[in-house]
Amino acid sequence: MDRSFDELEAIVRKRICSVCTERTTDGQCGLEIPSSCALFHLFPQVAQAIQSVNSNDIHQYIEAIRRNVCSVCREQAPDGSCETRQQVQCALDAYLLLVVDAVEEATGKTFDKTSIHNLPAGQAVSPNPQIRL
Ligand code: SF4
Ligand code: SF4
Repeated sequence: MDRSFDELEAIVRKRICSVCTERTTDGQCGLEIPSSCALFHLFPQVAQAIQSVNSNDIHQYIEAIRRNVCSVCREQAPDGSCETRQQVQCALDAYLLLVVDAVEEATGKTFDKTSIHNLPAGQAVSPNPQIRL
């Protein structure tokens, strides 16, 4: 199923912002600069990275995100590390499982969540993620 980036972004916003710990009680994004949210600042790259993968292995999605999104994100250091990710302050990383699920579902694919075991140490992806403030 083909969806425009705008349609996908609206679907992902509805799914992720509603559970994001940055969201305020009146339903707004609580970031000082809401447009700086890495998930939506780079949404076309996020959607393309997810759609480039056809797998039930979350590691392959993580690799695609690192390759296509983190590589052009201003938060990534030259050595590939990311302080924002380490601090669990990147909504894309913290909610990656939900983002993948939302995009794949919206485009007519399914993602088998049973593959989320044995993630690398420090990986923020979890069934019940929380962004740390
Ligand atoms: S930080 Fe990002 S995911 Fe969270 S509420 Fe703001 S825009 Fe939505
Ligand atoms: S993990 Fe870091 S480099 Fe990757 S998108 Fe998030 S903030 Fe940017």
